[in-house]
Amino acid sequence: MELIWKSIFVVVFVALFIIRLPYASMHKKADKKTSERPKVEKSLVFLNFITMMIIPMLVVFSPWFDGYRMNLPTWARIVSAVIFAANAILFFWVHKWLGRNWSPILEIKEEHKLITGGPYKFVRHPMYTQIWVWVIFQGLVLSNWALWISGIVAWAILFFIRVPREEQMMIAEFGTQYKEYKKRTGCILPSNPLKK
Ligand code: SAH
Repeated sequence: MELIWKSIFVVVFVALFIIRLPYASMHKKADKKTSERPKVEKSLVFLNFITMMIIPMLVVFSPWFDGYRMNLPTWARIVSAVIFAANAILFFWVHKWLGRNWSPILEIKEEHKLITGGPYKFVRHPMYTQIWVWVIFQGLVLSNWALWISGIVAWAILFFIRVPREEQMMIAEFGTQYKEYKKRTGCILPSNPLKK
């Protein structure tokens, strides 16, 4: 039975990797106008690489994390697997819209465009929404405490440090255009329409 969950996980993992590839290569080629690479952020990105890439693979392919099994009921794993797989659609949608503006770190490219369509019409950080769903459900699909907690904690730290700095950087580049955009969108969830 465990093999089924592991297989689903690996298929989604590979799908996300393939979706990301062309954007990673565009990112490499693009000229950068400003680039922020503080040591703290670099270390946090590396930490998230471990909790979202290395640990899941060790859970799938090695016995090292077997002591942290969660023993979730089957229905919970089915629901988690469906959400985890559906999240790949969001990942694809976000990449399609963000295009060459995507970057693993905070930077502004030459001819950087402010994207406000597609998923960006509703939230300013749909890729981070996707990452939250990823870290919450990876540990549930693979039913592993160590993966669940390490993934959520590592991402939460990077997320809360990065978002204010990213928005500051976008305001420095796009000024009132971003400020207006910020007013009409939510951070990672669509803002409450009743508020307006
Ligand atoms: N925070 C966004 C993007 C993540 S990728 C999201 O969650 O979807 C990080 C890079 O995206 C940053 O370096 C920044 O330059 C760029 N970026 C963020 N929001 C953007 C937007 N609305 N339009 C264009 N580029 C954006």
